[in-house]
Amino acid sequence: MGDSGDQLTIVSNRLPAVLKRCDDAWQVEPGSGGLVQAMSPILCNRGGRWVGWPGVTTGEPDGWEKGLRQVEVDSGFELKPVVLNQREFEQFYEGFANSVLWPLFHGFPDRCDFDPDFYAAYGQVNEKFADAIAGVDDDLLWVHDYHLMEVARRLRNKDYGGRLVFFLHIPFPSIENFSKLPWRHRLLTDLLHYDLIGFQTERDLHHFQNCVNYLGVGAAEEDGPSRCHIELGTREVEAGAFPIAIDYQDFARRAATDEVSQRVEVLQGDIGPYQMLLGVDRLDYSKGLIHRLQAYEMALEEHLDLHEEVVFLQLVVPSRENVDEYQALKREFDRIVGRINGRFSTAAWQPIHYLYNCVDPEQLSAMYRLASVAMVTPLRDGMNLVSKEFCASQVDESGVLVLSEFAGAAEQLGSGAVLVNPYDIGQTAQAIYRAITMEAQERSQRMKSMREVIEHSDVYWWAEAFLERAHRQQQTVQELLTSDSFPLERRSV
Ligand code: UDP
Repeated sequence: MGDSGDQLTIVSNRLPAVLKRCDDAWQVEPGSGGLVQAMSPILCNRGGRWVGWPGVTTGEPDGWEKGLRQVEVDSGFELKPVVLNQREFEQFYEGFANSVLWPLFHGFPDRCDFDPDFYAAYGQVNEKFADAIAGVDDDLLWVHDYHLMEVARRLRNKDYGGRLVFFLHIPFPSIENFSKLPWRHRLLTDLLHYDLIGFQTERDLHHFQNCVNYLGVGAAEEDGPSRCHIELGTREVEAGAFPIAIDYQDFARRAATDEVSQRVEVLQGDIGPYQMLLGVDRLDYSKGLIHRLQAYEMALEEHLDLHEEVVFLQLVVPSRENVDEYQALKREFDRIVGRINGRFSTAAWQPIHYLYNCVDPEQLSAMYRLASVAMVTPLRDGMNLVSKEFCASQVDESGVLVLSEFAGAAEQLGSGAVLVNPYDIGQTAQAIYRAITMEAQERSQRMKSMREVIEHSDVYWWAEAFLERAHRQQQTVQELLTSDSFPLERRSV
């Protein structure tokens, strides 16, 4: 990276630390996940800080700050907490973020609750984040995800002059869906106060361009593959596709350990002498869990040779458990699992094994390794890291990935995976059969090609590609500033 000495501030809804209340005391653990893994070494090297919500609301017992200080010492960079109150948690986080932006951006407008109070709370919390950041004079401020799309505009209003870049981890919606948002002009105009906006895929970038042009908030033009710029009169914004990735080496290494090999044996013993289909998903309607069960049921109806030949292990990670909609989804899922097991089980074989839990990284790795087929069939997903983790863990290259064409990962893995439209139950049922019966040579060719892509474009590549683009953009601005042609007015309002 050209400017490795420059300071960086990462801003995301959650801090990279997990706070838990145990026996009347706070326990704090460092966060996990791709973003934390990618950003921690970069922050540690360049110096900087991470700003975010620590997961506690005002009024909860104090004492958690001490735990955060310990995570700071261990990670080597500063953590700056932004605490929400209960109303903000309900109206900003559960409200605008998770009951408006999440469903709308994933293509489920009917699930949105366009409550104006939610939008007002979104503005207030984005202002709170901007207040927390305004005094920071780092070289580069990188804001993450749909919770914080207004932060740049609010910072510019506070005369913040540094670079502001943004990455959207979830899909960007089509103009048909985005137009349904009552605050569509304001939200898009606010987003355009960032200098660089990153999306997961070409499809998202294309949708964004369409929305900018159709709603008339700027003039977006393509700049070649995966890039566009938006002309706003006094300034330009850049946008691009930067598919997020995983730490390939970490997954490949873990999958090859003795511990994971032992766990593979135990797991095979638990499920019986059958080929395993695997699903790993957070409980969410965007993941297509019900459609997937229906497809498996149809495959069992149509292909009797699958009976006592395959089992489907579905790991569902609990999520948003206090929300009615998610509880209803879980009830529906449980009901269909019961129906399928009731219909097809024999004394020796149960077609679905279902875990509603989190598992540790070694267990997850054992599941990825043992799976003959991974079912990654979301109705819509920004990227879907499970698909990449599965491939990275397939050290013997014998598994098949059945992948939804609506997962962001399909743009990179489409030629190696068996692609499906998850709404097409019949096609997905056929894909299951095709994957289970696929010859070893074809399996290995497909898996090899996907692993090459994932190894080359890993999470470090992703972070560097984005930061390099942000850096190059800064150089261009500086060149213009020192030439006579650059309008010397403030860059935004
Ligand atoms: N995961 C986890 N614990 C588990 C099962 C899965 O931490 O018990 C992780 C998994 O390794 C992956 C993430 O959850 O990194 C799911 O990411 P994905 O992009 O597939 O979907 P998201 O949940 O972010 O929508």
